[in-house]
Amino acid sequence: MARAALALETLNLETLNLELLNKEIVACNLCARLRSHCAEVARVRRRAYAEWEYWGKPVPSFGDPEARVLALGLAPGAHGSNRTGRPFTGDGSGDFLYPVLHQAGFASQPKAISRDDGMKLTGLWITSVARCAPPGNKPTPEELRNCAPWLDREMSLLKNLRVAVCLGRIAFDGLLAHEARLGKLPARREFVFAHGAEYTLPSGLIALASYHPSLQNTNTGKLTRPMLLKVFRRARTLAGMD
Ligand code: SF4
Repeated sequence: MARAALALETLNLETLNLELLNKEIVACNLCARLRSHCAEVARVRRRAYAEWEYWGKPVPSFGDPEARVLALGLAPGAHGSNRTGRPFTGDGSGDFLYPVLHQAGFASQPKAISRDDGMKLTGLWITSVARCAPPGNKPTPEELRNCAPWLDREMSLLKNLRVAVCLGRIAFDGLLAHEARLGKLPARREFVFAHGAEYTLPSGLIALASYHPSLQNTNTGKLTRPMLLKVFRRARTLAGMD
């Protein structure tokens, strides 16, 4: 009984720490270029969202603190997450991703509209290698380095992680860089990005690679819904969730 109570306390502490970390992330100002870009997008707004009060800050991560699976994206979309304040919420990438997450059993609903749409994730935590929307969806190497410590801290708090689904090559490289910072990746060239590639990293974490669900990939058929569903179903299996 005492052991169960201790486990519960530890879990609650980690949940609290993840919440505190998200608060720190939201207040981050390290990348002047990105901060001013996000603020400007939030000020000008897209006509379709003229009534919205844009989030305009670094986007906090979202999900289940007990997650066994991590979904690692690139960066917030200017009129998606930068508007709504939640990863992959409110743009074409999210409209493609969340129905897949719902079908794979990770998301409570297929539609992601806003931070208060009732969405709950089970067994999944969504984050990204850059937390502020970059011009042209391209963070610089320096901006990615600035943001990397947030990922390191976050992953250290997600104690149940077994699988990381990397959405796109930059996310995949970001995960490898994370492993290298931990001193756990002696031969990086063995890990080559390809859709569906699967690697057990020296730390024991399993990396699954996928094309990013950007409109550029989904509109052209480079990434289809069955392709992405297969990746997340595989993640479930590898994480021992089936
Ligand atoms: S991209 Fe990351 S490091 Fe840069 S300002 Fe945003 S949260 Fe901070």
